[in-house]
Amino acid sequence: MSTMANRTETRAERGHRTIHAGGEWLAASSGATRDIIDPADARPFAVVAEGDEKDTDLAVAAARRAFDAGEWPHTPVAERAALLRRVADLLVRDREELGLLESRDAGKTVEEGRVDIDCVADAFRYFADLVAGEAPGRVVDAGSPDIHSVVVHEPVGVCAMITPWNYPLLQASWKITPALAAGNTFVIKPSEITPMTTIALIDLLVEAGLPTGVANIVTGPGHTVGARLAEHPDVDLVSFTGGLVSGTKVAQAAAVTVKKVALELGGKNPNVVFADACETEEGFDTAVDQALNAAFIHSGQVCSAGGRLIIEESVRERFVAELARRAAKIRLGRGTEDGVECGPLVSEQQRAKTEDYVASALAEGAVLRCGGKRPEPSPERPEGGYFYEPTVLDQCHREMRVVREEVFGPVLTVETFRTEDEAVALANDTEYGLAGAVWTADAGRARRVAGRLRHGTVWINDFHPYLPQAEWGGFGKSGVGRELGPAGLAEYRESKHVYQNLAPKPVRWFAG
Ligand code: NAD
Repeated sequence: MSTMANRTETRAERGHRTIHAGGEWLAASSGATRDIIDPADARPFAVVAEGDEKDTDLAVAAARRAFDAGEWPHTPVAERAALLRRVADLLVRDREELGLLESRDAGKTVEEGRVDIDCVADAFRYFADLVAGEAPGRVVDAGSPDIHSVVVHEPVGVCAMITPWNYPLLQASWKITPALAAGNTFVIKPSEITPMTTIALIDLLVEAGLPTGVANIVTGPGHTVGARLAEHPDVDLVSFTGGLVSGTKVAQAAAVTVKKVALELGGKNPNVVFADACETEEGFDTAVDQALNAAFIHSGQVCSAGGRLIIEESVRERFVAELARRAAKIRLGRGTEDGVECGPLVSEQQRAKTEDYVASALAEGAVLRCGGKRPEPSPERPEGGYFYEPTVLDQCHREMRVVREEVFGPVLTVETFRTEDEAVALANDTEYGLAGAVWTADAGRARRVAGRLRHGTVWINDFHPYLPQAEWGGFGKSGVGRELGPAGLAEYRESKHVYQNLAPKPVRWFAG
């Protein structure tokens, strides 16, 4: 029986041969490698291939062959769905090991890593069920018994996928599962700093029986591998999750060959709290607890992080005092240590960026209520780890950079309002539009405000949950297209109208 331990050994034996193209595990053609760093102590724990354009071309050629001449696009839907379900089972089997690997790679706690793996398995099951239960096409009334007209969906072709470091395997699964369900082949480029679980997933796809060449991976940086994927003439679709700057470059490069493009970008997500949500002790406690979770889970490195608390003036002082008290008690440390609630930031660069935002906010008049510095090292927080204290900045306003731009660190800003209109205006005053929440005990107000928020997901009296069966994506500069749900599958399909004339006759348009 193949076990994770065996496969880990196999991966260890493979060493830096982490490029998978046409069924072969390869080193970078240049021989270059990259150390993968554990953000909890800044020490390398793995080495991967540093691929480049040449390696990318090889992987795209393999995916192209598997699409144009391979069996996967024509494999019956029931068989494709069965394979996806087998992968879900393998993910469950390897949950502990993969959760741990995600924790080391991205710095999150092991429990967060395990939850990520459960969510990845859910995505595989969801898309398996979705395609298995579908009608193969839609018959169209062409207005004549002599015409048979049907619209069918077909796979797009070779899909390029570019993913970020915060939820490495989860973001990959939201692309890989619908792509495979629809019959595509793909090349994935994980973030160069967190590729480990995506490499492991390729092994599981192979183990589940995916035909050679369907799943390919190139490890390497964005400006070489990612840029080449976006511009490559043999790629039919590029799906990108990451920041606004890189996403814009991907869209520009993809436009030259008129690829289909899906972009899941950043967010600056409001968490709107009305005073009536805090009238009871239980309501107050829940709203504070969830505001904490919204802003600080995974050290705020979440695209939908509720980093903007927009609170009714009358409850601000009590709410912020309690929030800051609890934020200061969050246990920071290595994600594998017992009792640790929050890990480090993913890199020195990410911590420096966070420090820069806090410094600019203080210079612009924000009031520091807690955090705002690196914690002291401790047995559970090794020196060298990229830790930063959860930070609450009071008295913020919309002109501040920290309020307008995505920090992607453990920083919560506080703004206040007096009226419902003012709350909505503040919440919509962002160039992004990924997610937001409204907290209120008034059901009418909840629905009214939710209806007016210009964000792709709106939570009422909750923060952060998502469902694989519900579309995820953003308004404005948060992106183009949707992942998850039926629309998440549609991204990976072309519609084809097949019009059959059962009684053909000449049309005589031309006299000749
Ligand atoms: P990033 O944009 O720096 O990198 C994302 C990916 O793009 C990486 O694989 C990177 O190597 C690649 N890349 C970089 N430059 C490229 C280029 N010129 N061409 C092609 N590929 C290129 O983002 P990040 O720092 O890894 O991730 C954080 C960002 O991701 C945040 O902005 C966050 O909001 C966003 N994100 C969004 C969602 C969502 O669902 N909307 C989910 C997770 C993360």
